[in-house]
Amino acid sequence: MPSTVPSLHDFVRDLPKCELHVHLEGTLEPGMRVALAARNGLPVPDVSTPYDFDSLTSFLSVYYAAMTVLVQEQDFYDLAMAYVRTARDNGVIRVEAFFDPQAHTSRGVPFASVISGYSRAAADASALGIDVGLIMCFLRDLSAESAMATLAEALPLADLLIGVGLDSDELGNPPEKFRAVFDRARSAGLRVTVHCDVDQQDSITHIRQAAVGIAADRIDHGSNVVEDPALVQILVDRRIALTTCPLSNALVADSMKSREIVELLHAGVNVTVNSDDPAYFGGYIVDNYVALAEDAGLDDAAVVQLARNSFLGSWASEDDKRRYLSAVEEFVATTTA
Ligand SMILES: [Zn+2]
Repeated sequence: MPSTVPSLHDFVRDLPKCELHVHLEGTLEPGMRVALAARNGLPVPDVSTPYDFDSLTSFLSVYYAAMTVLVQEQDFYDLAMAYVRTARDNGVIRVEAFFDPQAHTSRGVPFASVISGYSRAAADASALGIDVGLIMCFLRDLSAESAMATLAEALPLADLLIGVGLDSDELGNPPEKFRAVFDRARSAGLRVTVHCDVDQQDSITHIRQAAVGIAADRIDHGSNVVEDPALVQILVDRRIALTTCPLSNALVADSMKSREIVELLHAGVNVTVNSDDPAYFGGYIVDNYVALAEDAGLDDAAVVQLARNSFLGSWASEDDKRRYLSAVEEFVATTTA
């Protein structure tokens, strides 16, 4: 009689999950990049060699160059829908996705094209069984004034967003630089999350600013917090979730940070696992769960807890959280019965 025990990959794939840290621009696969360049009459890029980067800064230079093929509203829609289909195949039932309008408006792409394409895809994703919320990120290496102007442009359309975030090059760009921007976003009913990338020059200072000064609802990456037990306790007490991304850690830092992630899980921090920029970092969310589970030796119960954490750390309504968590428990009951 064949075994009914699923492989780790299949177990993770079928486990209902929420993705809390994925940049839509980071889902631009080489094939789509070529197709969009051709569609927009741009030079067709050579994608035959793998991207070459080994740090956040070198990754970002590759990343911004690649996304210049995104020009029309339809491009943003097609990019997001391609991700949604892949997310569905990864067992994702809710996504809270980042996008970077300034990376496009700075090239002359109208803000309306970006938000319309992405929000149209978010609406159409429900037909595929995925709830999508959009988080508008500010590029922290641009000025606070530029972020505020972007927010002002977005506020009339704030009902298309669930929150705002902060990403891009962290060196010399602390969360506090954007405090007024976050305050204004929050007063408009938006939630707040802040990247605190791994092994940055001022990681602990930035995590403290995000958690305490900015009072962020979530922190993206943030695993360096493990170096400061008092700050870990603040994350626990305030239920500030961390959105870790093992495969991207391995490429821009020296490891997946499995030891840190497990230590934080044991400390009671709401740690989640996500894919970041999956077209660049070698895998979508299932690959990230599997890589972490294998590297850290996680058992099925720990893997299930990561999925529960993803919904608990989401910005879904309480009713929706209960519905999502019931789906997890139903999966566990049928899989382990
Ligand atoms: Zn990120």
